Amino acid sequence: MGNFTIRFWGVRGSYPIPGAQSVRFGGNTSCVELNIGNRRLIIDGGTGIIGLGNQMLKESFAAKKAINTTILFSHMHHDHNQGFPFFKPAFIDSTTLHIFGPRSFQMDFDKVLAGILQPPFFPVELSEMRSKKFISNISENDILLMSAVNDTVPRLHTTHLDKSTIASDDILVEVLKSFAHPKGGTLFFKVSYKDYSMVFASDTEGYLWDDQKLINFAKNADVLIHDAQYTTEDYIGQNGFSRQGFGHSTPEIAIEVAKKANVKQLVLFHHDPEYSDEKIALIEAHSRMKHPDCIAAYEGLSIDLTKGFSKLKRVQIKGINTI
Ligand SMILES: [Zn+2]
Ligand SMILES: [Zn+2]
Repeated sequence: MGNFTIRFWGVRGSYPIPGAQSVRFGGNTSCVELNIGNRRLIIDGGTGIIGLGNQMLKESFAAKKAINTTILFSHMHHDHNQGFPFFKPAFIDSTTLHIFGPRSFQMDFDKVLAGILQPPFFPVELSEMRSKKFISNISENDILLMSAVNDTVPRLHTTHLDKSTIASDDILVEVLKSFAHPKGGTLFFKVSYKDYSMVFASDTEGYLWDDQKLINFAKNADVLIHDAQYTTEDYIGQNGFSRQGFGHSTPEIAIEVAKKANVKQLVLFHHDPEYSDEKIALIEAHSRMKHPDCIAAYEGLSIDLTKGFSKLKRVQIKGINTI
C-alpha cells in the first residue's frame, strides 16, 4: 500500500467562522487527516475534527470495523482542540484512540486534555468518554513509529533510535518544538512514509532570515503546511493594529521557508477568521506570483503525495486569477 493522502477538515486559526464569507475556504479550525497505507492519523482537534469524526463513524459502520486512530495535538490553544469534545468516535466503546500532545506548563498532556473536558466548561469528563484512550506526552526529538499495514500500537521512542532499524512499512513521525508561539510554543510534525513526507508547521511567527531549524526539518519534503495567518500589512499593523508577537506568520514568511527547504508544495494554513473567501483567494494569487508551488488550504482539499501537485484543485472565485 503506497498511498499517502492529506485531507483538510479545518483550515482557520483563532476561532471558527460561519457565514457567507467563509463558505469556499471553510470556517472550521485546525484539523488535518492523513491516510497512509491502512493507517489514519489526525493532526489537531479543532472544530474540523467534528466532521471528520462523523465521516469516520459512517465508514466504520459500513465496513463493520471498529475505529482505531492516532491523534497528534500541536498545542492546546482552543482553535486546536475545541472540536475534540464533539468527536463522536471518542464516545464509542469499540473505538481505540492513541493520543499524543505536548506537556504544557509543567502538566502532563493527559491532564491538559482532561482539563478541556470538565464541568463547568463541558458536561462530559474525559474519563466518561467510553473509547479506549492511550494518552502520552510527545516532545522534541521523540520519534513515533507505526505500521502502515495494520493497527498495531504506535511505538514512541523518547531516546535515540537508529533509523536504519525502521521497517519499510513503518510510518515515521518526527517532532520539532517551535518557541515562536506564545506562551508555551507549539510542536511541528514531520510524517514520512517510504519516499514521501509532509511537515505540519502551524502557529509559528518565523524569524529574521527565516526559521533555520524548520528549514532543516522540512528539507526536501513533498508538502509543507505552514502558518500564513496575516497579510504583511495586517502583521505590521498598517491599519493601526499590529499582530506582531501573536505567534503567526505571513505568506511571505511561509514562502521563504518553503523555498529554502526546497519543498515541492507549500500549503498556506491557519487563515485569519476575519478574512473573506475573496481575500484569501487574493492572498493565494499574490503568493503564487512569488512562488507558484503554493496553494491556500480549504476544507475538503485533498492532496495525494504519490500523484504530484500539478492537478490540485483551487478555490475559484470570479475575477480573481488563481491559476
Ligand atoms: Zn492556532
Ligand atoms: Zn496557537
